[in-house]
Amino acid sequence: MSEPEVNTNEEKKGTSDFVEDGKNKMVIKCKYCLSKILEKKTAVYVEQEKELPLMFQGIDRKQGEIKKEMLNEYYHVDNMYIFENIGFTHQVDNYKYLTCADCEAGPVGYYDLDSKHSYIALSRIEHS
Ligand SMILES: [Zn+2]
Repeated sequence: MSEPEVNTNEEKKGTSDFVEDGKNKMVIKCKYCLSKILEKKTAVYVEQEKELPLMFQGIDRKQGEIKKEMLNEYYHVDNMYIFENIGFTHQVDNYKYLTCADCEAGPVGYYDLDSKHSYIALSRIEHS
């Protein structure tokens, strides 16, 4: 009698094309200039609800208004030196937003000044 191996890993949630052993399976790049942001298997996949400002705010917005969207899939990086390339924006509350170091596209994620941990949104980057 041979039973198929049961995968009890609760982190498996349809992102297996990108995630292996809880980490990014592929190189993470900027969507726009393809500059490398993270090497393979350097960031931990996490699900958390966190709002990020839209990458493109549009020209019709009211002055001072920042359009945001709720994102729930991120890569967690606990040491900023792990990044191959990353840029920072100005500080907002206890956060700095992360941008591409080369073309400044962003925000691709945020940096928490309290924990000194960084989070990159899966939907804001390219896997390759
Ligand atoms: Zn870029």
